[in-house]
Amino acid sequence: MDHRYPVARRALGSAVMRYASTRGDGEVSFSEALAAGLAADGGLYVPTAWPSFTSRTAPATLPEVAASLLQPFIADDPLQPDLAAITEEAFSFPAPLVSLGDEPTQLLELFHGPTAAFKDFGARFVAACLSRARRERPLHILVATSGDTGGAVAAAFHKRPGVRVSVLFPKGLVSPAQERQLTCWDDNVRSLAVRGTFDDCQALVKAAFADKEMGSRYDLSSANSINVGRLLPQMTYFALTSLAIWNVHRAPASFVIPSGNLGHATACVWARRVGLPIGEIVLAHNRNRTMPDYLESGVWRPRASVPTLASAMDVGDPSNGERLRHLFPDLAAMRGALTAYAIDDDAIRSRIRTGWEKYGQIWCPHTATAAEAHALHMARGGEGRWTIVATANPAKFPEIVEPLLGRAIPVPNSLAALFDRPSQVTEIEPDLSALRRAVA
Ligand SMILES: *Cc1c(COP(=O)(O)O)cnc(C)c1O
Repeated sequence: MDHRYPVARRALGSAVMRYASTRGDGEVSFSEALAAGLAADGGLYVPTAWPSFTSRTAPATLPEVAASLLQPFIADDPLQPDLAAITEEAFSFPAPLVSLGDEPTQLLELFHGPTAAFKDFGARFVAACLSRARRERPLHILVATSGDTGGAVAAAFHKRPGVRVSVLFPKGLVSPAQERQLTCWDDNVRSLAVRGTFDDCQALVKAAFADKEMGSRYDLSSANSINVGRLLPQMTYFALTSLAIWNVHRAPASFVIPSGNLGHATACVWARRVGLPIGEIVLAHNRNRTMPDYLESGVWRPRASVPTLASAMDVGDPSNGERLRHLFPDLAAMRGALTAYAIDDDAIRSRIRTGWEKYGQIWCPHTATAAEAHALHMARGGEGRWTIVATANPAKFPEIVEPLLGRAIPVPNSLAALFDRPSQVTEIEPDLSALRRAVA
Protein backbone atom coordinates (compact mmCIF):
# COMPACT_ATOMS: atom_id res chain seq x y z
CA MET A 1 0.00 0.00 0.00
CA ASP A 2 1.06 3.50 -0.77
CA HIS A 3 0.96 5.94 2.17
CA ARG A 4 2.66 9.05 0.88
CA TYR A 5 2.21 12.35 2.63
CA PRO A 6 3.29 15.91 1.97
CA VAL A 7 6.49 16.86 3.75
CA ALA A 8 5.90 18.42 7.17
CA ARG A 9 6.74 22.11 7.36
CA ARG A 10 8.45 21.80 10.72
CA ALA A 11 11.11 19.37 11.77
CA LEU A 12 9.90 16.37 13.75
CA GLY A 13 10.69 16.23 17.41
CA SER A 14 10.54 19.99 17.89
CA ALA A 15 8.81 21.02 21.09
CA VAL A 16 6.36 23.42 19.51
CA MET A 17 3.22 22.66 17.57
CA ARG A 18 1.35 25.07 15.35
CA TYR A 19 -1.84 24.73 13.34
CA ALA A 20 -2.30 26.22 9.88
CA SER A 21 -5.36 26.59 7.69
CA THR A 22 -5.87 24.16 4.83
CA ARG A 23 -6.21 27.33 2.72
CA GLY A 24 -2.86 28.71 3.82
CA ASP A 25 -3.56 31.18 6.64
CA GLY A 26 -0.80 31.69 9.21
CA GLU A 27 0.09 29.48 12.12
CA VAL A 28 -1.70 29.49 15.48
CA SER A 29 -1.41 27.57 18.76
CA PHE A 30 -3.70 24.70 19.74
CA SER A 31 -5.70 26.95 22.08
CA GLU A 32 -6.17 29.52 19.33
CA ALA A 33 -7.27 26.90 16.80
CA LEU A 34 -9.63 25.42 19.39
CA ALA A 35 -11.23 28.76 20.23
CA ALA A 36 -11.53 29.84 16.59
CA GLY A 37 -13.01 26.61 15.21
CA LEU A 38 -12.76 27.68 11.59
CA ALA A 39 -9.69 29.57 10.31
CA ALA A 40 -10.23 33.20 9.26
CA ASP A 41 -9.74 32.32 5.58
CA GLY A 42 -12.56 29.74 5.80
CA GLY A 43 -10.17 26.78 5.87
CA LEU A 44 -9.76 24.11 8.54
CA TYR A 45 -6.86 23.94 10.96
CA VAL A 46 -4.39 21.10 10.54
CA PRO A 47 -1.14 20.36 12.43
CA THR A 48 1.97 21.74 10.72
CA ALA A 49 4.12 18.80 11.84
CA TRP A 50 3.60 15.12 12.58
CA PRO A 51 5.05 13.69 15.76
CA SER A 52 6.27 10.12 15.60
CA PHE A 53 4.93 7.35 17.82
CA THR A 54 7.21 4.38 17.58
CA SER A 55 6.46 2.80 20.95
CA ARG A 56 4.51 -0.46 20.73
CA THR A 57 4.06 -0.85 24.47
CA ALA A 58 0.84 -2.59 25.41
CA PRO A 59 -1.78 0.07 25.91
CA ALA A 60 -2.84 1.27 29.32
CA THR A 61 -6.09 3.13 29.89
CA LEU A 62 -7.82 5.43 27.39
CA PRO A 63 -6.92 8.62 29.36
CA GLU A 64 -3.26 7.56 29.52
CA VAL A 65 -3.07 6.74 25.82
CA ALA A 66 -4.80 10.05 25.06
CA ALA A 67 -2.38 12.02 27.22
CA SER A 68 0.76 10.55 25.65
CA LEU A 69 -0.63 10.71 22.11
CA LEU A 70 -1.83 14.31 22.42
CA GLN A 71 1.14 15.66 24.36
CA PRO A 72 3.16 16.69 21.26
CA PHE A 73 0.05 18.21 19.67
CA ILE A 74 -0.28 20.72 22.51
CA ALA A 75 3.39 20.74 23.48
CA ASP A 76 3.90 24.45 24.15
CA ASP A 77 0.26 25.38 24.70
CA PRO A 78 -1.09 27.07 27.84
CA LEU A 79 -3.37 24.01 28.27
CA GLN A 80 -0.43 21.60 28.30
CA PRO A 81 -0.08 21.37 32.12
CA ASP A 82 -3.76 20.37 32.34
CA LEU A 83 -3.60 17.66 29.69
CA ALA A 84 -3.74 14.69 32.07
CA ALA A 85 -6.75 16.17 33.90
CA ILE A 86 -8.45 16.96 30.57
CA THR A 87 -8.04 13.44 29.25
CA GLU A 88 -9.28 11.98 32.56
CA GLU A 89 -12.39 14.11 32.23
CA ALA A 90 -13.01 13.42 28.54
CA PHE A 91 -12.25 9.69 28.53
CA SER A 92 -14.23 8.70 31.58
CA PHE A 93 -16.12 5.84 29.93
CA PRO A 94 -14.87 2.70 28.16
CA ALA A 95 -14.46 1.86 24.46
CA PRO A 96 -14.66 -1.95 24.52
CA LEU A 97 -13.55 -4.26 21.73
CA VAL A 98 -16.21 -6.92 21.21
CA SER A 99 -15.58 -10.11 19.27
CA LEU A 100 -17.95 -11.36 16.59
CA GLY A 101 -18.18 -15.04 17.43
CA ASP A 102 -14.97 -16.77 16.40
CA GLU A 103 -14.24 -14.45 13.48
CA PRO A 104 -11.05 -12.38 13.63
CA THR A 105 -13.08 -9.22 13.00
CA GLN A 106 -13.96 -7.18 16.07
CA LEU A 107 -16.33 -4.40 16.89
CA LEU A 108 -15.10 -1.24 18.62
CA GLU A 109 -17.99 0.13 20.68
CA LEU A 110 -17.74 3.89 21.03
CA PHE A 111 -21.22 4.54 22.38
CA HIS A 112 -20.92 4.16 26.14
CA GLY A 113 -20.83 7.89 26.91
CA PRO A 114 -23.61 10.17 28.21
CA THR A 115 -25.39 10.59 24.85
CA ALA A 116 -24.63 7.10 23.53
CA ALA A 117 -22.65 8.03 20.39
CA PHE A 118 -18.90 8.35 19.75
CA LYS A 119 -19.17 12.13 19.57
CA ASP A 120 -19.19 12.23 23.38
CA PHE A 121 -15.40 11.73 23.33
CA GLY A 122 -14.54 14.74 21.18
CA ALA A 123 -17.25 16.95 22.66
CA ARG A 124 -16.15 16.26 26.22
CA PHE A 125 -12.52 16.88 25.31
CA VAL A 126 -13.38 20.24 23.74
CA ALA A 127 -15.52 21.18 26.77
CA ALA A 128 -12.76 20.20 29.18
CA CYS A 129 -10.27 22.35 27.20
CA LEU A 130 -12.49 25.38 26.66
CA SER A 131 -13.65 25.51 30.27
CA ARG A 132 -10.00 25.82 31.31
CA ALA A 133 -9.07 28.48 28.77
CA ARG A 134 -9.06 32.08 29.99
CA ARG A 135 -11.11 34.65 28.11
CA GLU A 136 -12.47 38.17 28.40
CA ARG A 137 -15.84 37.79 26.68
CA PRO A 138 -18.45 35.04 26.95
CA LEU A 139 -17.92 32.16 24.59
CA HIS A 140 -20.76 31.22 22.26
CA ILE A 141 -20.54 27.79 20.73
CA LEU A 142 -22.45 27.23 17.52
CA VAL A 143 -22.88 23.63 16.55
CA ALA A 144 -24.55 22.22 13.46
CA THR A 145 -25.67 18.65 13.92
CA SER A 146 -26.96 15.83 11.76
CA GLY A 147 -28.20 14.18 14.95
CA ASP A 148 -25.52 13.12 17.42
CA THR A 149 -22.99 15.96 17.67
CA GLY A 150 -25.52 18.43 19.06
CA GLY A 151 -26.57 16.21 21.95
CA ALA A 152 -22.98 15.34 22.81
CA VAL A 153 -21.89 18.99 22.76
CA ALA A 154 -24.94 20.13 24.73
CA ALA A 155 -24.34 17.45 27.37
CA ALA A 156 -20.65 18.33 27.59
CA PHE A 157 -21.25 22.08 28.08
CA HIS A 158 -24.59 22.13 29.94
CA LYS A 159 -24.36 24.45 32.97
CA ARG A 160 -20.69 25.27 32.41
CA PRO A 161 -20.21 28.93 33.40
CA GLY A 162 -19.10 31.49 30.79
CA VAL A 163 -20.19 29.36 27.81
CA ARG A 164 -23.37 29.48 25.72
CA VAL A 165 -24.30 26.79 23.25
CA SER A 166 -26.67 26.99 20.28
CA VAL A 167 -27.43 23.67 18.61
CA LEU A 168 -28.72 23.81 15.01
CA PHE A 169 -30.38 20.68 13.66
CA PRO A 170 -32.40 19.99 10.48
CA LYS A 171 -36.06 19.98 11.48
CA GLY A 172 -37.69 16.58 10.98
CA LEU A 173 -34.48 14.97 9.69
CA VAL A 174 -33.13 13.52 12.93
CA SER A 175 -34.50 10.44 14.67
CA PRO A 176 -37.16 11.04 17.37
CA ALA A 177 -34.74 9.87 20.08
CA GLN A 178 -32.03 12.18 18.74
CA GLU A 179 -34.47 15.07 18.66
CA ARG A 180 -35.39 14.52 22.30
CA GLN A 181 -31.73 14.51 23.13
CA LEU A 182 -31.16 17.75 21.24
CA THR A 183 -34.04 19.59 22.86
CA CYS A 184 -33.91 18.43 26.49
CA TRP A 185 -31.59 21.24 27.65
CA ASP A 186 -32.07 24.53 29.43
CA ASP A 187 -29.83 27.07 31.16
CA ASN A 188 -26.94 27.90 28.78
CA VAL A 189 -28.01 25.58 25.92
CA ARG A 190 -30.46 26.54 23.17
CA SER A 191 -31.88 24.20 20.50
CA LEU A 192 -32.75 25.53 17.06
CA ALA A 193 -34.74 23.44 14.58
CA VAL A 194 -33.71 24.76 11.15
CA ARG A 195 -36.16 24.40 8.27
CA GLY A 196 -33.57 22.86 5.98
CA THR A 197 -30.96 20.09 5.76
CA PHE A 198 -27.78 19.45 7.75
CA ASP A 199 -25.82 21.18 5.02
CA ASP A 200 -27.98 24.29 5.55
CA CYS A 201 -27.18 24.13 9.28
CA GLN A 202 -23.49 23.79 8.57
CA ALA A 203 -23.60 26.67 6.07
CA LEU A 204 -25.39 28.84 8.67
CA VAL A 205 -22.68 28.19 11.24
CA LYS A 206 -20.01 29.10 8.70
CA ALA A 207 -21.95 32.28 7.78
CA ALA A 208 -22.22 33.24 11.46
CA PHE A 209 -18.45 32.98 11.78
CA ALA A 210 -18.02 35.36 8.89
CA ASP A 211 -20.62 37.78 10.34
CA LYS A 212 -19.18 40.93 11.94
CA GLU A 213 -22.23 41.62 14.09
CA MET A 214 -22.22 38.22 15.78
CA GLY A 215 -18.46 38.32 16.06
CA SER A 216 -18.63 41.68 17.84
CA ARG A 217 -20.84 40.31 20.61
CA TYR A 218 -19.27 36.99 21.45
CA ASP A 219 -16.22 34.92 21.01
CA LEU A 220 -17.74 32.47 18.57
CA SER A 221 -16.53 28.92 18.42
CA SER A 222 -17.65 25.70 16.88
CA ALA A 223 -17.62 22.28 18.42
CA ASN A 224 -18.24 20.59 15.07
CA SER A 225 -15.67 18.30 13.61
CA ILE A 226 -14.38 21.36 11.75
CA ASN A 227 -12.80 22.06 15.16
CA VAL A 228 -9.39 20.45 15.44
CA GLY A 229 -10.06 19.94 19.16
CA ARG A 230 -12.73 17.39 18.23
CA LEU A 231 -10.50 15.44 15.88
CA LEU A 232 -7.31 15.06 17.89
CA PRO A 233 -8.88 13.17 20.82
CA GLN A 234 -10.66 10.87 18.37
CA MET A 235 -7.26 9.44 17.42
CA THR A 236 -7.10 7.89 20.90
CA TYR A 237 -9.25 4.80 20.48
CA PHE A 238 -7.74 4.04 17.08
CA ALA A 239 -4.38 4.16 18.86
CA LEU A 240 -5.55 1.98 21.75
CA THR A 241 -7.15 -0.59 19.44
CA SER A 242 -4.23 -0.78 17.04
CA LEU A 243 -1.73 -1.23 19.88
CA ALA A 244 -3.91 -3.89 21.50
CA ILE A 245 -4.08 -5.81 18.21
CA TRP A 246 -0.37 -5.32 17.55
CA ASN A 247 0.55 -6.71 20.95
CA VAL A 248 -1.47 -9.89 20.44
CA HIS A 249 -1.10 -10.53 16.71
CA ARG A 250 1.93 -8.47 15.60
CA ALA A 251 -0.27 -7.25 12.75
CA PRO A 252 -1.58 -3.81 11.84
CA ALA A 253 -5.20 -3.02 12.59
CA SER A 254 -7.53 -2.13 9.73
CA PHE A 255 -10.69 -0.13 10.37
CA VAL A 256 -14.10 0.30 8.75
CA ILE A 257 -15.51 3.67 9.78
CA PRO A 258 -19.12 4.82 9.40
CA SER A 259 -18.54 8.21 7.73
CA GLY A 260 -20.46 11.40 7.11
CA ASN A 261 -18.60 14.66 7.70
CA LEU A 262 -15.34 12.63 7.61
CA GLY A 263 -14.11 13.78 11.02
CA HIS A 264 -13.74 10.29 12.39
CA ALA A 265 -11.99 9.15 9.22
CA THR A 266 -9.57 12.07 9.40
CA ALA A 267 -8.72 11.20 13.01
CA CYS A 268 -7.94 7.62 12.00
CA VAL A 269 -5.78 8.79 9.08
CA TRP A 270 -3.90 11.10 11.47
CA ALA A 271 -3.39 8.20 13.91
CA ARG A 272 -1.80 6.19 11.09
CA ARG A 273 0.19 9.25 10.02
CA VAL A 274 1.90 9.54 13.40
CA GLY A 275 3.07 5.95 13.15
CA LEU A 276 0.51 3.81 14.93
CA PRO A 277 0.20 0.27 13.51
CA ILE A 278 -2.85 0.92 11.36
CA GLY A 279 -3.28 -0.83 8.00
CA GLU A 280 -6.23 -0.18 5.74
CA ILE A 281 -8.92 2.41 6.38
CA VAL A 282 -12.31 1.83 4.77
CA LEU A 283 -14.95 4.56 4.83
CA ALA A 284 -18.56 3.40 4.96
CA HIS A 285 -20.91 6.05 3.62
CA ASN A 286 -24.63 5.84 3.07
CA ARG A 287 -26.17 7.06 -0.20
CA ASN A 288 -24.49 10.43 0.34
CA ARG A 289 -21.62 9.41 -1.89
CA THR A 290 -19.52 12.54 -2.36
CA MET A 291 -16.39 10.81 -1.03
CA PRO A 292 -16.77 7.45 -2.82
CA ASP A 293 -17.40 9.39 -6.06
CA TYR A 294 -14.34 11.55 -5.45
CA LEU A 295 -12.08 8.52 -5.06
CA GLU A 296 -13.48 7.16 -8.30
CA SER A 297 -13.55 10.31 -10.45
CA GLY A 298 -11.03 12.65 -8.83
CA VAL A 299 -13.65 15.41 -8.88
CA TRP A 300 -14.81 16.82 -5.55
CA ARG A 301 -18.50 17.43 -6.17
CA PRO A 302 -20.45 18.46 -3.06
CA ARG A 303 -24.20 18.12 -3.41
CA ALA A 304 -27.40 18.36 -1.40
CA SER A 305 -27.65 15.67 1.24
CA VAL A 306 -30.24 12.92 0.82
CA PRO A 307 -32.05 11.45 3.83
CA THR A 308 -31.14 7.85 4.72
CA LEU A 309 -31.59 5.42 7.61
CA ALA A 310 -28.10 6.29 8.85
CA SER A 311 -29.11 9.92 9.29
CA ALA A 312 -26.09 11.09 11.30
CA MET A 313 -24.09 10.51 8.09
CA ASP A 314 -26.43 12.40 5.74
CA VAL A 315 -23.78 14.85 4.62
CA GLY A 316 -23.51 15.91 0.99
CA ASP A 317 -20.66 18.36 1.51
CA PRO A 318 -18.36 16.73 4.06
CA SER A 319 -16.23 19.43 5.68
CA ASN A 320 -13.30 17.23 6.50
CA GLY A 321 -12.90 16.26 2.87
CA GLU A 322 -10.84 19.45 2.78
CA ARG A 323 -8.49 18.13 5.47
CA LEU A 324 -8.11 14.81 3.66
CA ARG A 325 -7.43 16.48 0.30
CA HIS A 326 -4.89 18.72 2.02
CA LEU A 327 -3.08 15.69 3.40
CA PHE A 328 -3.30 13.82 0.07
CA PRO A 329 -3.27 16.47 -2.66
CA ASP A 330 -2.43 13.72 -5.10
CA LEU A 331 -5.43 11.53 -6.02
CA ALA A 332 -3.29 8.43 -6.41
CA ALA A 333 -1.98 8.87 -2.85
CA MET A 334 -5.52 9.34 -1.54
CA ARG A 335 -6.62 6.17 -3.33
CA GLY A 336 -3.72 4.28 -1.77
CA ALA A 337 -4.66 5.56 1.67
CA LEU A 338 -8.43 5.11 1.72
CA THR A 339 -11.22 3.03 0.24
CA ALA A 340 -14.83 4.19 0.36
CA TYR A 341 -18.16 2.46 -0.18
CA ALA A 342 -21.68 3.89 -0.52
CA ILE A 343 -24.35 1.66 1.04
CA ASP A 344 -28.06 2.01 0.33
CA ASP A 345 -30.90 1.72 2.85
CA ASP A 346 -31.95 -1.80 1.78
CA ALA A 347 -28.45 -3.09 2.42
CA ILE A 348 -28.40 -1.30 5.80
CA ARG A 349 -31.68 -2.99 6.76
CA SER A 350 -30.56 -6.44 5.73
CA ARG A 351 -27.22 -6.01 7.51
CA ILE A 352 -29.04 -5.08 10.74
CA ARG A 353 -30.94 -8.39 10.41
CA THR A 354 -27.76 -10.33 9.64
CA GLY A 355 -26.00 -8.80 12.65
CA TRP A 356 -28.71 -10.17 14.88
CA GLU A 357 -29.16 -13.54 13.21
CA LYS A 358 -25.48 -14.32 12.77
CA TYR A 359 -23.86 -12.69 15.79
CA GLY A 360 -26.65 -11.82 18.24
CA GLN A 361 -25.61 -8.17 17.84
CA ILE A 362 -28.04 -5.25 17.68
CA TRP A 363 -26.53 -2.56 15.44
CA CYS A 364 -27.54 1.03 14.86
CA PRO A 365 -27.94 1.92 11.15
CA HIS A 366 -24.49 3.61 11.09
CA THR A 367 -22.72 0.60 12.52
CA ALA A 368 -24.65 -1.63 10.10
CA THR A 369 -23.43 0.56 7.22
CA ALA A 370 -19.87 -0.18 8.30
CA ALA A 371 -20.58 -3.90 8.75
CA GLU A 372 -22.00 -3.99 5.21
CA ALA A 373 -18.96 -2.15 3.78
CA HIS A 374 -16.75 -4.64 5.63
CA ALA A 375 -18.59 -7.57 4.05
CA LEU A 376 -18.23 -6.00 0.58
CA HIS A 377 -14.55 -5.33 1.13
CA MET A 378 -13.89 -8.90 2.27
CA ALA A 379 -15.82 -10.22 -0.72
CA ARG A 380 -13.39 -8.24 -2.90
CA GLY A 381 -10.39 -9.93 -1.34
CA GLY A 382 -9.80 -7.82 1.79
CA GLU A 383 -7.30 -9.32 4.22
CA GLY A 384 -5.95 -8.66 7.68
CA ARG A 385 -7.24 -7.86 11.15
CA TRP A 386 -10.36 -5.76 10.90
CA THR A 387 -12.22 -3.63 13.38
CA ILE A 388 -15.71 -2.36 12.59
CA VAL A 389 -16.35 0.90 14.39
CA ALA A 390 -19.72 0.97 16.19
CA THR A 391 -20.67 4.62 16.50
CA ALA A 392 -24.06 4.77 18.24
CA ASN A 393 -26.21 2.75 20.59
CA PRO A 394 -29.11 1.20 18.63
CA ALA A 395 -31.49 2.48 21.34
CA LYS A 396 -31.20 5.90 19.63
CA PHE A 397 -32.92 4.45 16.55
CA PRO A 398 -35.65 2.13 17.85
CA GLU A 399 -38.14 3.08 15.08
CA ILE A 400 -35.71 1.65 12.52
CA VAL A 401 -34.16 -1.27 14.34
CA GLU A 402 -37.03 -2.72 16.39
CA PRO A 403 -39.37 -3.56 13.46
CA LEU A 404 -36.48 -5.26 11.64
CA LEU A 405 -35.64 -7.49 14.58
CA GLY A 406 -39.10 -7.82 16.07
CA ARG A 407 -37.84 -7.05 19.52
CA ALA A 408 -37.51 -4.12 21.93
CA ILE A 409 -34.08 -2.55 22.39
CA PRO A 410 -32.98 -1.87 25.97
CA VAL A 411 -32.38 1.84 26.66
CA PRO A 412 -29.22 2.63 28.67
CA ASN A 413 -29.82 4.59 31.90
CA SER A 414 -27.97 7.70 30.73
CA LEU A 415 -30.25 8.02 27.69
CA ALA A 416 -33.40 7.29 29.69
CA ALA A 417 -32.53 10.15 32.04
CA LEU A 418 -32.20 12.58 29.11
CA PHE A 419 -35.48 11.41 27.59
CA ASP A 420 -37.28 12.27 30.83
CA ARG A 421 -36.35 15.96 30.69
CA PRO A 422 -38.84 18.53 29.28
CA SER A 423 -38.25 19.65 25.70
CA GLN A 424 -37.49 23.20 24.47
CA VAL A 425 -36.87 24.22 20.88
CA THR A 426 -37.09 27.27 18.57
CA GLU A 427 -37.80 26.83 14.86
CA ILE A 428 -35.92 29.07 12.41
CA GLU A 429 -35.54 29.61 8.66
CA PRO A 430 -32.11 28.72 7.29
CA ASP A 431 -30.85 32.29 7.09
CA LEU A 432 -28.43 34.37 9.06
CA SER A 433 -30.88 37.05 10.21
CA ALA A 434 -33.13 34.34 11.71
CA LEU A 435 -30.14 32.87 13.51
CA ARG A 436 -29.08 36.31 14.80
CA ARG A 437 -32.58 36.89 16.23
CA ALA A 438 -32.81 33.43 17.76
CA VAL A 439 -29.55 33.71 19.69
CA ALA A 440 -29.87 37.42 20.61
C1 LIG B 1 -21.41 11.69 13.34
C2 LIG B 1 -21.67 10.25 13.20
C3 LIG B 1 -21.02 9.50 12.21
C4 LIG B 1 -20.13 10.11 11.17
O1 LIG B 1 -18.94 10.65 11.71
P1 LIG B 1 -18.14 11.77 10.87
O2 LIG B 1 -17.00 12.13 11.73
O3 LIG B 1 -19.11 12.90 10.68
O4 LIG B 1 -17.77 11.16 9.58
C5 LIG B 1 -21.25 8.13 12.18
N1 LIG B 1 -22.07 7.53 13.05
C6 LIG B 1 -22.72 8.23 14.02
C7 LIG B 1 -23.63 7.50 14.94
C8 LIG B 1 -22.53 9.59 14.13
O5 LIG B 1 -23.16 10.28 15.09
